[in-house]
Amino acid sequence: MPLQTSEQRIVKIAVPCPLYRVFDYRLPAILGKQTIQPGIRVRIPFGRQKLIGFVIEETLGSEVPANKLKSIIKILDSHNLLGDDILKLLFWAARYYAHPLGDVLQTALPVYLRNNDDAAPLLNTWWRPTQTSHKPASQKYFSMPAEEEVLQTLKRAPKQRQLYQLLLAADDGLDADALNCRTENWRAPLKALLARQLIENFVKPALLTQQNPERGTDSGSDKVKLNDEQTAAIKNIESQHHQHAVHVLNGITGSGKTEVYLALCESMLARNKQILVLVPEIGLTPQLTQRFLARLNAAIVVLHSAMNDKQRYAAWHAAANKQAQLVIGTRSSIFTPLPDLGLIIIDEEHDGSYKQQDGFRYNARDLAIVRAKNNNIPVVLGSATPSLESLNNINEQRYQVHYLRQRANKKPLPKIQLVNLCSQKLHEGLAETLLTKIKQQLDNQGQVLLFINRRGFAPLLMCHDCGWTTSCHRCDAHMTFHKRRNQLHCHHCGSQRRAPAHCEDCGSSNILAIGAGTERIEHFLQAYFPDTQVSRIDRDSTRNKGALQEKLKKAHSGESDILVGTQMLAKGHDFPNVTLVCILDTDQALFSADFRAAEHLAQLITQVSGRAGRASRSGEVLIQTHHPDHPLLQTLLHSGYQAFAKAALQERHAAGLPPVRHLVLLRCESVEAQAAQIFLQQAAHSAKQTDIQHIDLFGPIPAPMERRAGRYRYQIMLQSGHRKVLHQFLSWWAPQLQQLPSARKVRWSIDVDPYDTF
Ligand code: ADP
Ligand code: ZN
Ligand code: ZN
Repeated sequence: MPLQTSEQRIVKIAVPCPLYRVFDYRLPAILGKQTIQPGIRVRIPFGRQKLIGFVIEETLGSEVPANKLKSIIKILDSHNLLGDDILKLLFWAARYYAHPLGDVLQTALPVYLRNNDDAAPLLNTWWRPTQTSHKPASQKYFSMPAEEEVLQTLKRAPKQRQLYQLLLAADDGLDADALNCRTENWRAPLKALLARQLIENFVKPALLTQQNPERGTDSGSDKVKLNDEQTAAIKNIESQHHQHAVHVLNGITGSGKTEVYLALCESMLARNKQILVLVPEIGLTPQLTQRFLARLNAAIVVLHSAMNDKQRYAAWHAAANKQAQLVIGTRSSIFTPLPDLGLIIIDEEHDGSYKQQDGFRYNARDLAIVRAKNNNIPVVLGSATPSLESLNNINEQRYQVHYLRQRANKKPLPKIQLVNLCSQKLHEGLAETLLTKIKQQLDNQGQVLLFINRRGFAPLLMCHDCGWTTSCHRCDAHMTFHKRRNQLHCHHCGSQRRAPAHCEDCGSSNILAIGAGTERIEHFLQAYFPDTQVSRIDRDSTRNKGALQEKLKKAHSGESDILVGTQMLAKGHDFPNVTLVCILDTDQALFSADFRAAEHLAQLITQVSGRAGRASRSGEVLIQTHHPDHPLLQTLLHSGYQAFAKAALQERHAAGLPPVRHLVLLRCESVEAQAAQIFLQQAAHSAKQTDIQHIDLFGPIPAPMERRAGRYRYQIMLQSGHRKVLHQFLSWWAPQLQQLPSARKVRWSIDVDPYDTF
């Protein structure tokens, strides 16, 4: 029977482009009457390009005249690779975040699948002992097992012998990645073993779970006896494993939250369920990942930024095909297909890195909750300092909360004290009393962590004769002085130039470095305590491969006496020897224009404080400030984070800010200030064409940093107490904005639930 021509068959395709619309295409005749699933990738002609688009739905007829209607070049997939639940999540997200659907779908896909037509699993070469070499036919005549025999013959070739043993020990061979994890210089002995036919090649998918040599080596459940609070939390969450609920695991630092995650994972794995664990930054917290790998006897894939596109795709594929049972990853892992998903865990749920700050500006924590709801499964949000959003949801009884109030090691939380900077003698920004305390700790073989959220030597250089300062030519900001490289860096746009030896205004060589960053503190402390080892941990000092690992190792072993770091150090690290934590610059956050600054500062202080006294010795925390009476600090110190959060929520209530009311920012930037202003004026005007009751519109107003990277930046802020109304309005407004004639001259974006208002 001839195939029916499919002239009438037309599908709507979402194209990865910044347009709020889908496009009609003809289906190829070859498809006949076969249905086509939403989410399937297709190659399509688009302008002069050939892009990969996504099938949305089949449609009867099109407004495009038949002779203008283009045909799909090729259907790439046999089924929707993302799975129905992710597709549903993305449709929802496109509307919620008012972002073009094609771009949303593309963001969710592994980079490999954005560019490659073929979605077949990637095959790797693996090696294993040859069957004959370890199970010879003669086996029954010899009492010595065959592998012993082979090992005997390799006695004079220790490298080959070692490699052979590694391959023997693996369940089903090893590939290059797996070998790299276990040994080095293995290529030559491998060649030799292949030549002797003692091992053989085979191909199978690049499955990253095999890379974990420590898998299941730590049966920690035997060692750790869970305390009552941990047991209660596990029991409670467990008892609701079959249904959706959001569980906030609110446990102070060191209270054993990870043990709770592990126990929940073990029981989900026993039920043959898959698990998704989201963490803020894997590179910075290898410890957490290591604990999962070591404890759980499961096929685990880790998605991290050091992986290339192929490795990521292999991990993604393993998850989608149930070869992997557990995925640990950062923000974008929320889009990993997991057909048997039974539990999602979000560690450090308050962390800002869950919010994507460009393109499709989603929040992975919030999407996790929607995904869990759609799938009718539980989600666990863990934190010592839950976000005000989550606390508000607990108050309104949308989320359940489980407290871990004790540290697992029963040590009390360290004592926090304020160091009043007013009229104190300062050494490079460090108070004398602080230096005395540091000396005491060092004399007692303690380890000290100093925390300052500013990289470089000094935030600016200034001419002592005329007041000229090093400002960035492209931003409304100063350029930071990096002494070691004798350069000025703009931390906002990335510009760099040589540090001037003379004032660029008056020519004077009398130039001062104003203020202090990590580099300056490091220099100073090294000179002040010459017999100690000072280690700086920030983005600059850890740029080279392996540098961070090396520094962390020395920090752990206690080889480094003083650690100076940025917020890289605040996240999840467990430094057993730290006895004193100093927080150097709090004043900026106390008076910041950002409405979340106080919350972030309180979280930071609490988190960083948790780094002290984790192991056998108790710890101390010192906070430098010119405003020791500031209510935020007072509440935090005397009543703790919970009390602070309660007060902060009340303030948000009064100010009509999130999470009480909802925020949306329409941002716009342009090299010409006027173009950006005109666009936003037109945008505001268009908003008023419709009924915007229950929505307050402010602006256009300049962004807090009006010029950045050579562009002028303005914004409109929308505020509403009614989510539904707000989103209804946005789905009307966003396409309108695209139509504005001024839109083409500027860069603009919509940010729903913005993390910061810059
Ligand atoms: P958190 O994630 O809350 O910061 P962790 O789970 O990392 O805390 O636990 C901190 C330390 O205490 C870890 O070394 C962990 O092995 C240990 N620990 C956790 N629970 C217990 C327990 N019930 N008994 C003894 N040690 C525990
Ligand atoms: Zn000058
Ligand atoms: Zn700049």
